[in-house]
Amino acid sequence: MNTPADQRAQVLRALDDAAPSMAASLTDAIRIRSINPKYPGQDYQKLVGGEGDMSDFMADLYRSAGASVEMVETEKGRANACGRIPGSGGGRSLAFNGHVDVVPAEASGRWSVQPFEGQLTDEEVIGRGATDMKSGLIAHAYAVKALADAGIRLRGDLILHSVVGEEVGDHLAGTTAVMEAGYKADATVVCEPTNLHDGPPTISPTAPGLLWFSVSIEGKTAHAGLRGHALHPVLDGQSLGVNAVDKLWVIYQALRNLEDEWAYRDRHPLFTPGHFNLLPGVMKANPQGIDVPFFLADTASIQYCALHHPGRSNEEVMEEITRTVNRACAGDPWLREHPATIEWKLEWPPYTLDPGHALLPTFMNAHQEAMGGGTDAAPVQSGFFGVCDVTWLQQQGSPGIIYGPGVASKAHAENESVPLHQLVTAAKTYALAAMNFCGVDAGEDN
Ligand SMILES: [Zn+2]
Repeated sequence: MNTPADQRAQVLRALDDAAPSMAASLTDAIRIRSINPKYPGQDYQKLVGGEGDMSDFMADLYRSAGASVEMVETEKGRANACGRIPGSGGGRSLAFNGHVDVVPAEASGRWSVQPFEGQLTDEEVIGRGATDMKSGLIAHAYAVKALADAGIRLRGDLILHSVVGEEVGDHLAGTTAVMEAGYKADATVVCEPTNLHDGPPTISPTAPGLLWFSVSIEGKTAHAGLRGHALHPVLDGQSLGVNAVDKLWVIYQALRNLEDEWAYRDRHPLFTPGHFNLLPGVMKANPQGIDVPFFLADTASIQYCALHHPGRSNEEVMEEITRTVNRACAGDPWLREHPATIEWKLEWPPYTLDPGHALLPTFMNAHQEAMGGGTDAAPVQSGFFGVCDVTWLQQQGSPGIIYGPGVASKAHAENESVPLHQLVTAAKTYALAAMNFCGVDAGEDN
């Protein structure tokens, strides 16, 4: 007699036993160079196809878990793998979503292994994508396979997404494309890495909003020998020349002050105070387009990536940033007459799961059971550190939760790695959560 408790124990045991196979599959997956071909600075023609190869790899795993698979492709070489395991009826459907693309990695002295070699040790797998997020892809595929191998039929459908394009927000080729192709569920699990460190995965019901923008200013060029005359108002001052590099700091300092204001003002119970930030990641200035310091620079720009509190809309934050820049310009004699211009390059809305949604208790209970129960196994909730496809899933009508293996502080970094215990815990939690959320069919086999 196979009781529901026996079935659950069988799934958990099977996933413990599957740890070496999961690690081996992850190593194989890392060897597929699925670098996003649209990542800035990359050669599209050279890289396109890698994502499609990774989707094919996932399609095979989905088939081995008993799913029917369709490849959904909006751009050649960039197919998404979509799986479906029909339920017996009467239960809620659940989707697992993960992206197959990774960011570039250069083999350098700062990597201890070749980034796309995929190295396995007793405790971890190292390589590009180990954390972000091939471990999440492998874990959900193995979770579904463990359910099938145990003969467990769910009442609701399971939907599986391996999608392209996430790393540049290209959801129209990835997550939105598979949703529009009909691979929608009542709720979705985004399998991105949630713990910043190497403890068990945390549960993220919320993610910040992201804005990528540039602020550009103009100066007035003059010979380097005349800088002193242009700099000191008691001499010629700005009628002679204005070095745009000096004026850039007016903007920089204003947004730096706003960043501090966010740290004090924009508190959220699931984020560390100070998490929300305005990163000036690219700064460029030069005289007449030439990279030499022999004239006063007449053009300058800073590009920012802002991650803001999920309780604030992108529009509200854009308005605040614009106001801050305008106020800074108004206080400067040159910028008052030659105000900075802001260009918005990418707007990624924030996300928050309705606190009453069943996904949250489902994951809290599943995680605790996966960890062996008891108080030591208590799940931890956290805000997701960055943005992810959960936003676009929500826009397509499927609320989501973010939960997955990986050490978020190693995402996009050298020596990216994932501890094996996270892979196993995530797979167990996924399997139990699917049973809890979709319901288990109590047919004569069970
Ligand atoms: Zn990711």
